[in-house]
Amino acid sequence: MKALIVGGGVGGLASAIALAQRGHDVTVLEQAPALSEIGAGLQIAPNGWRVLEALGVIPLIRDTLFEPEQIEMRMGVSGRKVFGLQMRGEAERRWGAPYIHIHRADLVEALAEQLRNLAPEAIHTGVTVTGYAQSSTGVALSCGDGSEMTGDIVIGADGLHSVLRTQMLGPDAPHYTGNVAWRAVVPIDALGDHAPPPGACIWAGDKRHAVTTRLRAGTMANFVGMVEMPEPSPEGWRVVGQKADAQAAFAGWHPVVTTLIDRAGTLNRWALFDRAPLPRWHEGRVVLLGDAAHPMLPSMAQGAVQALEDAWILAAALDAEDAPDAAFRRFHDLRIGRTSRVQKGSASNARLFHHGSMLGRAAIYGPMAIGARILPNLIHGRQDWIYGYDATTII
Ligand SMILES: Cc1cc2nc3c(=O)[nH]c(=O)nc-3n(C[C@H](O)[C@H](O)[C@H](O)COP(=O)(O)OP(=O)(O)OC[C@H]3O[C@@H](n4cnc5c(N)ncnc54)[C@H](O)[C@@H]3O)c2cc1C
Repeated sequence: MKALIVGGGVGGLASAIALAQRGHDVTVLEQAPALSEIGAGLQIAPNGWRVLEALGVIPLIRDTLFEPEQIEMRMGVSGRKVFGLQMRGEAERRWGAPYIHIHRADLVEALAEQLRNLAPEAIHTGVTVTGYAQSSTGVALSCGDGSEMTGDIVIGADGLHSVLRTQMLGPDAPHYTGNVAWRAVVPIDALGDHAPPPGACIWAGDKRHAVTTRLRAGTMANFVGMVEMPEPSPEGWRVVGQKADAQAAFAGWHPVVTTLIDRAGTLNRWALFDRAPLPRWHEGRVVLLGDAAHPMLPSMAQGAVQALEDAWILAAALDAEDAPDAAFRRFHDLRIGRTSRVQKGSASNARLFHHGSMLGRAAIYGPMAIGARILPNLIHGRQDWIYGYDATTII
């Protein structure tokens, strides 16, 4: 089968590998002139690790990944610790795979390398897909330069602003969530005494929160700051932001947070969107996955991980069913409940981290602190449905 995959992000590359492993002919079409990623980190939970392992990517990221000691939560201004949950060792014991942090560029490069090992000519950059046309025997993609490409199926892994989704389901805009995110990566050496803890740390505050992690074997600090704003930035959904705006948003916060912002070379600012679960993700020979199908807030750190799960299960469904249409229906049926639940959980986590009033903080974070101290097993247990899921055994 000849598969055309639109988008060379995590979802597109992973699905190309999963199909190439099964002997299919794959072509990835990416609009950017080169596969490139912004300077930012990703948390990959055990459910994502399992897919990366099945794709053969783990040996390519082993030297650059970072395994956090704990996931902890602190108050953003005082730095007081609310709770810490052991992850290193515990994740493998409980969910059968580690919880890691990785630079986005390192993950995309590793996925691209593994794809080149299987299909050396698969990746085509500088190609913008503008739409599709299909018949009972095949599907054609039209590209920005007027050219056309044909295949047996098309996978739309073209992200939040997917043109394939728009053609398939109509031009409704994604929903602005009322949050913008700041992102930066800074060498640990530049932070002096204010390096973030060697784990994933959520810094909670009034209508905003920050997350600090470490990357590149612990040598880089990663910062995500999420701030409630009634209107998205007028310039677009992803821009280089003004450092002064980020400094103002986190003024008076703990020095770990303010030093990270002060020492950042570039701060990217993203308006954050999500979408209500879609009624379907396919039309005939064309199917959507990842952010094109189910964009979500980053507050559960699961967007890329869900794209990895999609990639594996879609390839398995195509193997298991006789026709693409049946495979795509099975894929949607298997995935929609889970991705919708993660979309919902991500939105409610954002609210959980943004309590302003003393009363709100005491009511929410007090029981969390006590629970984590006396019943850590219970708190870990609340993650079982996410981290314990094994996409590689679903079909
Ligand atoms: C602040 C922030 C923090 C996050 N942290 C995490 C985290 O810790 N863990 C996690 O799992 N997820 C995280 N995410 C979510 C994650 O980044 C996304 O869910 C993930 O990148 C989705 O992958 P994708 O391949 O579906 O889409 P994308 O990564 O958006 O890739 C889509 C690709 O398609 C290309 N493209 C688009 N249109 C066209 C076209 N017409 N023709 C050709 N190419 C096209 C784009 O250039 C792009 O390369 C975070 C997101 C944000 C905003």
